[in-house]
Amino acid sequence: MPTAQFAVFGHPISHSLSPQIHHAFGQQFGIELEYRAIDAAPEAFAEAVRRFFLDGGHGANVTLPHKAAAFALANQRSESAIRVGSANVLTLQGDGTLAAHNTDGDGMVRDITERHSTDLRGHTALLLGAGGAARGVAWHLLDAGVATLTIVNRSPEPADALADAIGDPARAHTRYWHDLADIGSFDLIINATSAGVLGTALQLPFSLVGARALCYDLSYGAAAGSFLAWAKTAGARYAFDGLGMLVETAADAFELWHGKRPDTDPVYHALRQQFG
Ligand code: NDP
Repeated sequence: MPTAQFAVFGHPISHSLSPQIHHAFGQQFGIELEYRAIDAAPEAFAEAVRRFFLDGGHGANVTLPHKAAAFALANQRSESAIRVGSANVLTLQGDGTLAAHNTDGDGMVRDITERHSTDLRGHTALLLGAGGAARGVAWHLLDAGVATLTIVNRSPEPADALADAIGDPARAHTRYWHDLADIGSFDLIINATSAGVLGTALQLPFSLVGARALCYDLSYGAAAGSFLAWAKTAGARYAFDGLGMLVETAADAFELWHGKRPDTDPVYHALRQQFG
């Protein structure tokens, strides 16, 4: 039987940890798999995906900037992908069609509630950013029981669109970025902007950080450094990066493809050694 083939598509993609994570998951079950990182520019993405699956690909992860395009080219879409309007997982179905899933939000909430043992029920939450990742996590924060979700984005339109799509104004609403100094404090602050990845430090007031605050940056490694340093200086009780989210979302994809749930802890701890 040929080795099962998987890939992650992105642009750029050379930094991706997904091949390492999926090979480690495969070893847990004695599953031999080939998992590669494929760099595809936006105009080449659809053809690269088509070729990958024609050549025997079983499943693919999709990252920046292709998540909306992956959603658009799939034949079927899971409920979470439809809510978000983008996909981070593509799966070849038995009939040759492609199914799109979005596992970002589930993975982040599981990292917070299970790995970091924090019950989010009743938390007041601030979501910084309204791009693809922020959309991915917003509904799952509400599903996890946060009392309120305040969405603040540098440009207001995507934040308003996200709050409108959620359609629960009593719990999810927007504020302007220039109001951050006046909107009080929060129990949970999620940085879902790409500022850190782009090498920019967000200028955030310390007053945002409540007494029991958990601050969480979706990025990891050096990209999360300035937000986590700000959170600690502001007195946050906990400050976590998105490495655990990455491993959890990968586990969801692995389960979709192989029907087996990997143990994420050993893989997470091995990666943590790399990132400090
Ligand atoms: P998008 O490009 O879709 O969105 C980027 C967001 O960041 C927008 O809201 C944008 O605001 C905002 N932003 C960018 N620069 C700044 C800045 N200087 N100041 C304020 N806001 C800024 O990216 P994604 O949503 O897909 O990804 C966001 C982050 O999440 C990335 O760092 C990514 O690596 C990380 N991520 C981590 C995952 C994990 O598994 N750990 C999974 C998915 C994403 P505006 O609309 O105004 O441009």
